[in-house]
Amino acid sequence: MDNLNSSLKKIWDNLKDDIRDVITEQAFSTWIEPIHPVTIEDKVLTLEVPSQFYYEWIDSHYQPLIVESLKEATGEVIHLRYSVVVGETRQENETTKLKQNTTSISKSYDSGSKLNKRYSFESFVEGSNNQFAKAAAIAVAESPGQTSFNPLLIYGGVGLGKTHLLQAIGNHVLNTQNENKINYMTSEKFTLDFITSIQKSSTAEFSRKYRNVDILLVDDIQFLQKKEQTQEQFFHTFNELYQQGKQIVLTMDRHPNELYGLKDRLLSRFQSGLIVDVQAPNLETRIAILQKKADMDNLDIPYEILEIIAINIKSNIREMEGALIKILAYSSLYRSDITMELAQKALKETLGNSAFNDLTIDDIIKRVSATLNVPEGKLIGKGRKMEIVIARQIAMYLCRDMVGASLVNVGLHFGGRDHTTVIHACKTVKKKMKENPEFSRKVKNLKNHIIV
Ligand code: ADP
Ligand code: MG
Repeated sequence: MDNLNSSLKKIWDNLKDDIRDVITEQAFSTWIEPIHPVTIEDKVLTLEVPSQFYYEWIDSHYQPLIVESLKEATGEVIHLRYSVVVGETRQENETTKLKQNTTSISKSYDSGSKLNKRYSFESFVEGSNNQFAKAAAIAVAESPGQTSFNPLLIYGGVGLGKTHLLQAIGNHVLNTQNENKINYMTSEKFTLDFITSIQKSSTAEFSRKYRNVDILLVDDIQFLQKKEQTQEQFFHTFNELYQQGKQIVLTMDRHPNELYGLKDRLLSRFQSGLIVDVQAPNLETRIAILQKKADMDNLDIPYEILEIIAINIKSNIREMEGALIKILAYSSLYRSDITMELAQKALKETLGNSAFNDLTIDDIIKRVSATLNVPEGKLIGKGRKMEIVIARQIAMYLCRDMVGASLVNVGLHFGGRDHTTVIHACKTVKKKMKENPEFSRKVKNLKNHIIV
């Protein structure tokens, strides 16, 4: 097996070539490219993957393919084991989901309330909804403890970027001022740690751990509601750090005045700094956020699909990301490129059919006719004039691409043409779109007109 290990890179590269042949380019770059082979030992290949979601997806969809290719390459049945990189820490996980593994997962979660590197200021899209919060966060990250924004409180609804901003502060400080000790955690973890320390009679150690930092970042303070003893402990930690000029940043899901079951003296401490809110982003910002996510992952997703998601999911950015992931998942499941049709299939449940306007062939004919200024009769007629032929081909292409209509059905709507004519039209349009950017833009604009 040592032999295998030394040629691991080669084996993996060959395997990638094999897999590339049988799945789409999009699926390959989304799911296979980011996998990093670590070791082969005792017939177990350990693969490093970027997230738990990846692990589940790869395990359920690509595991047989990978094992099969490995067998061809090595002549052995090799099992897969996944290691999920979470910030700095790793979670181990085996394909054979043994019970004992669960313990190793929770252990590494425990040790690793680490910062997620993806949550940076650069990746945080600014809009009128979060401008002030972002500016305050940057100010604090640049001079922790030195501004009057101490504590800084960020509040707002679910999935609007509070955790992202909080971690961006931590990441920024980590990258620029290495000597500062940062402690990022959720208030749930604070509570749990505290309870454990009581059980183990090690509250002194608990205090040391939490009071020995330069920057304390606590997420979701609302969990402290009604937990009086934990609040008391938090109050002391807070005071001590505050008096030493250490920076404190807290997030919560509503304005502190609306938190109930929180002791007044804790509340008045919270209010001595700066309170900022994050609100739901507007449409442009939502599209920009999706675009950013797609760019970060090198995903080439058509603009109109991002727009459909952004138009339909208004209040929660996490949900928008969920929609994006679902489309990726479908693309890999059906081995298909990311098209409007695929997005429709993937998001039908989440968004409802109306999101896609339930277009018909007749709608497309009407709108292409209006937008390109070609009378409907001519569009479906027999005329061979150049611009009419082109408009007709585009219309046929859109009927396939946007409605998913069958070749025969499209042919019928266009003056009873044969399905081979429709195939020819679609091929011509696709080819032209590839070769001619201006033409491609024209078709895409047309699509946008049809959707709105
Ligand atoms: P909250 O903590 O407020 O519930 P999160 O910070 O976890 O929300 O945000 C949910 C998801 O939305 C995260 O993946 C985050 O990166 C993303 N997100 C939120 N706001 C923005 C933004 N302005 N720009 C980029 N991504 C954002
Ligand atoms: Mg959060």
